[in-house]
Amino acid sequence: MPELPEVEVCRLGVSPHVVKNEVSKVIVRNRQLRWPIPDEVQKMIGQSVIRVDRRAKYLLLRFDGGTLLLHLGMSGTIRVIDEATPVAKHDHFELVFVNGTVLRLNDPRRFGAVLWFDKHVDKQGLLSKLGPEPLSDEFCHDYLFAKAKNRKVPIKTFLMNNHIVVGVGNIYANEALFLAGILPIAKAGTISNKRYNRLTDIIKQVLSAAIKQGGTTLKDFTQADGRPGYFAQSLFVYGRAGQACLTCKETLLEVRQSNRSSVYCPNCQQD
Ligand SMILES: [Zn+2]
Repeated sequence: MPELPEVEVCRLGVSPHVVKNEVSKVIVRNRQLRWPIPDEVQKMIGQSVIRVDRRAKYLLLRFDGGTLLLHLGMSGTIRVIDEATPVAKHDHFELVFVNGTVLRLNDPRRFGAVLWFDKHVDKQGLLSKLGPEPLSDEFCHDYLFAKAKNRKVPIKTFLMNNHIVVGVGNIYANEALFLAGILPIAKAGTISNKRYNRLTDIIKQVLSAAIKQGGTTLKDFTQADGRPGYFAQSLFVYGRAGQACLTCKETLLEVRQSNRSSVYCPNCQQD
C-alpha cells in the first residue's frame, strides 16, 4: 500500500510535468473506484494545473476552477507518459494535456479515488477532520503529549489515528516505536513528554529518510514500464516477527492491534 512517503514522491515526480500544462481530454475507462468518478472531472478540459499539493495521502491538483483529488488506495500508481503509450489493464483514468503528456492512473484493486471539487477542499469533506502533517512544525511532542492526556488507547493505535496525525501508516508506526524504545501496547496517556519528544523526532526522521530514498525513483514516473512509488526499505521490525532483533538478538514478537500486525522487541522496547 502506498504510504505518505510514496505519495509525496509521486507529487514530486508528477508536478514538473503537469504544472502550467493545459488539459485537453479527460478519459474515464472504469469509473468504479472507491467512489464512482464523477462527470464533473470533464470540467478540467481547457484548464491548466496551477500546483500539485499533498494532504495526508491525497494528491490535490489545483486548477482555477477547483481541485482534482486523487488517492492511490491499496494498489494505485500514477505515471506521466506519452499519449502513444499503449493502455494497460487497470488503467482506469487519465488526463491528456495539450502537449501530448498523459497522467495515467492504474489501480488493480480499485480502492483509489478520483474526485472533483469546485471549491478547494482543504477545509471541507474528506480533509476537514485530519490531524496535522507529521513533517509540519505543528506535529511536535507538546502537541502529541497534550492529545494523549488521559488516553488509555495503545500508542500504536493512537499514532495511526488520522485525527491525531496523518500519514503514520503501519510500517512507519512499527519502525518508529522500535527506534523510540516504546512498546506498541503502551498506553498513550502514560508516556512522558520526554519520550514523546524522541518519538516525534524519530517519526519525522523515518518519513524524511523514506522520501529522500524515494527521490531516486523519480524518473520511474515517466517510464511506461516503470512501477513507481513502492519503496524497498530496510526495516528493523515490520514483517520480521520471530526473527532476531537487529540491535540485541532477542526474538521479535507480534501482537494484533486494531486488526494490524505490530512487531516489537521485548528487550529494546518498554511501556
Ligand atoms: Zn532488541
